[in-house]
Amino acid sequence: MSTETGLETPAANDDQITEKKTEVGSVFVSNYPPFSFWQKDSLSEAQQALASPAAEETPLGLYLHIPFCRKRCKFCYFRVYVDKNADQIQAYLDALGREVELYSQQPAVAKRPLKFVYFGGGTPSYVAVKHLHGLIDRIKAAMPWDNVEEVTFECEPGTLTQSKVAAYREIGVTRLSLGIENWNDEILKENGRAHLTGEIHRCLPWIRAQGFDQLNVDLIAGMVGESWDTWRDSVQKTIDIDPDSVTIYQMELPYNTVYSQGILGGNESPVADWETKRAWNQYAIEELQGAGYDVSSAYTMLKRASGSSKPRFAYRDSLWHGADMLGTGIASFGHLSGFHLQNVASWNDYLERIAEDQLPLGRAFKTNDSERLTRELILQMKLGRLDLGYFRRKFDIDPLEAWKDTFQGLVEREMLEISNADEVLLTTRGLLQVDALLPEFYDPKYSNARYT
Ligand code: SF4
Repeated sequence: MSTETGLETPAANDDQITEKKTEVGSVFVSNYPPFSFWQKDSLSEAQQALASPAAEETPLGLYLHIPFCRKRCKFCYFRVYVDKNADQIQAYLDALGREVELYSQQPAVAKRPLKFVYFGGGTPSYVAVKHLHGLIDRIKAAMPWDNVEEVTFECEPGTLTQSKVAAYREIGVTRLSLGIENWNDEILKENGRAHLTGEIHRCLPWIRAQGFDQLNVDLIAGMVGESWDTWRDSVQKTIDIDPDSVTIYQMELPYNTVYSQGILGGNESPVADWETKRAWNQYAIEELQGAGYDVSSAYTMLKRASGSSKPRFAYRDSLWHGADMLGTGIASFGHLSGFHLQNVASWNDYLERIAEDQLPLGRAFKTNDSERLTRELILQMKLGRLDLGYFRRKFDIDPLEAWKDTFQGLVEREMLEISNADEVLLTTRGLLQVDALLPEFYDPKYSNARYT
């Protein structure tokens, strides 16, 4: 799983900045305006936009949601299934392939080359290779794939085999993202993860042997049972395996996790408080910096460039700079021709709509210039740096003027620095809690509203 992917995530809580405990409802900002403002009523207008050619220069990506996992993690809030058999998985992948074909027939998409492809989940590596090949062949036949810069594939260590990893290389995966999350078996078990550390060690040589452009490792700061000792050990073991990038999330507790249900039923929060999680996150950043990594965003540390011109994280950078993206699969969201789009969220609805040769859209939102500006600004804040010239050129607006009081307030709270007229830099303090700061940039009509 990755919270940077095309699946809806709950939004940040203003109280998170000062709140000590990790309570239910804490969040991660992945889009703007909030999902709760996306409406079924906007779908007909969105369909009309899909029927017109899009701006040619806008890059296009494809997100595919593979909603299957071996087991549901106790902190998971994604739309995933742990009970589907091989026939059901095949039916879903057939529908996914058909959805891409239906998109490719829309004038807003037709013949546009794909810049990036992202297989997210769920657990894409749960799927058998023979099923995967069929899907890839279908996508490649439907859409220009030859110029794809990056193909990301999310993997759970225990689902990998040597032949699966070789097949990923063969189909063109460039960025393999491995959900390690923690290097302690007791913690992995407590949190309901399907894999243990032995499976991480087993799959690493297979991954290394294939020479992917990039191996990313996901860690979570603040899994239940975490201590300073176990966290230090996890960070060191991650450095020891020398990945190309490391993504670190602070544990959140949206409403629909197993842990959240326990808290809502009267239990104490089992997750470390925010101050501790930020301290763990900061420790990891500093250790990784010492080991040759740079901060690439609030979540991602990237091994210092070695003169390579290969894309470093095309999916994220494209999306956060206003690219179009087809969000395919159950509950996925995307963006096309100025519209946010989200698919229906139920298994039956999704399959039925595809069987009727219809795009399985559930709700949409037509963005205006101001909303697209705000969206890019808050997403790029997560990079830790805002290039103000970019916003002046693209939107003909100076963010420092447009959000004068907001920026001033954040400077006073030492969350960011305005280093010169062209650049805003987040401090480490700001970066470690950036999701809680972003609602301060929202239009008042979207503030204090439900996020999803
Ligand atoms: S691996 Fe765990 S957290 Fe990731 S999608 Fe599956 S159940 Fe959710």
